Amino acid sequence: MRLYSTNGKSPEVSFEEAVFKGLPSDNGLFMPKEIKPLPNHFFEHIEELSFQEIAFEVTQSIIGDDIPSDDLQKIINEVLSFDAPVVNVHDNIHTLELFHGPTLAFKDFGARFMSRIMGYFLQEKAQKINILVATSGDTGSAVAQGFLGVPNINVTILYPKGKVSEIQEMQLTTNGQNIKALEIEGTFDDCQRMVKSAFLDEELSKKLGLSSANSINISRLIPQSFYYFYAYAQLKKQGKPVVFCVPSGNFGNLCGGLIAQKMGLPVHKFIAATNANDIVPTYLKEGKYEPKPSVQTISNAMDVGAPSNFARMQNLYEESLEAIREDIIGKSFTDEQTKEAIKRVFNQYGYILDPHGAVGYLAVEEYLKENPSEDVNTVFLETAHPCKFGDVVEPIIGQKIDIPQRLQEIVDREKQSTLMDANFESLKSYLLNENAEATDA
Ligand SMILES: *Cc1c(COP(=O)(O)O)cnc(C)c1O
Repeated sequence: MRLYSTNGKSPEVSFEEAVFKGLPSDNGLFMPKEIKPLPNHFFEHIEELSFQEIAFEVTQSIIGDDIPSDDLQKIINEVLSFDAPVVNVHDNIHTLELFHGPTLAFKDFGARFMSRIMGYFLQEKAQKINILVATSGDTGSAVAQGFLGVPNINVTILYPKGKVSEIQEMQLTTNGQNIKALEIEGTFDDCQRMVKSAFLDEELSKKLGLSSANSINISRLIPQSFYYFYAYAQLKKQGKPVVFCVPSGNFGNLCGGLIAQKMGLPVHKFIAATNANDIVPTYLKEGKYEPKPSVQTISNAMDVGAPSNFARMQNLYEESLEAIREDIIGKSFTDEQTKEAIKRVFNQYGYILDPHGAVGYLAVEEYLKENPSEDVNTVFLETAHPCKFGDVVEPIIGQKIDIPQRLQEIVDREKQSTLMDANFESLKSYLLNENAEATDA
């Protein structure tokens, strides 16, 4: 597999290089040079394949022979150790539940795949790396879980003290093994600044082999295409065209869908659903792309004012606004509408939406009103389990949400973290010290 930069000013790289570099040097984003359609017989029999079998075919088609079949099969089986069921909410509105992984959000797919891919390449070279991540909550926990126990990789997570939820803090600090948590006496921005300084520090890069687990890494994007195929497979026998609706922030999840479509998946339309951070819906409507500072909403994982995957979306459509508009419809909703949808869907249909999924539900509902003559199946992606947003959802539905067993277990574990002031020198001496111990042992 070869990858190019969307900015076109940095040389092509291999899959392995793209995974460890994260970003091309010209500040663009890596894209696969070739995305081939899968053969007809794959789609003719897709409903007979397991989730793992589908993902294996998709990955092999994208990455070619960069990873031998047996190893790739093992990676896929480890990554997809949980299901992604399509659940009917009512009538022709379905949801694709992407929260059955260890941290109860769809970012588990990307984080688990990236960790295994990195682990595979490092094992080939008998090399070790250190991953540094700053988190405001969810990305850090998915990364921690994804990399837990993966050989040759140590992960250090920086989170702002007192600024993540209790469950999130548990998810960050109770892992043990190769995952270390630093509780920073500062804000998320301080954490991010410290991580950035570390990447720029020559001594650290030389001694530690630092790498990021950035959300725009190509190895996080690829697995986000798997479940579109799998959802299609689950609905195929009904024989209706499928509309996918993706609650979006950085638009990585939607890009996974666009790649699936490029590989031949029959998709009638995509709906890009956002909260008040409506940069992409506005672009689709008015043709003007104007990033702005994000505003805070109750679907906070989508509070993004400059979507990092926008360049990939444009690139997939060769910068043609008309072509993008053919496939993607943009819609945005307020917090008030989101809360109303959570309440109504629970009261009428007994399904508990999380605030992100609720935005997706609203967009589907509006789409169906605007297109009454279409006989389609709609699928909105449920990107997180509602219990992760219990403080918002529970008062609206007037009852407690059960916490799944796999999350309940960590609540009983002991918190392990190192308190640190928001100072790069503290981080540097900590990292050098930790690493010295690791090599002496
Ligand atoms: C990250 C996230 C999103 C947004 O996904 P993008 O790929 O950034 O568009 C939506 N919902 C939840 C729960 C998330 O964690």
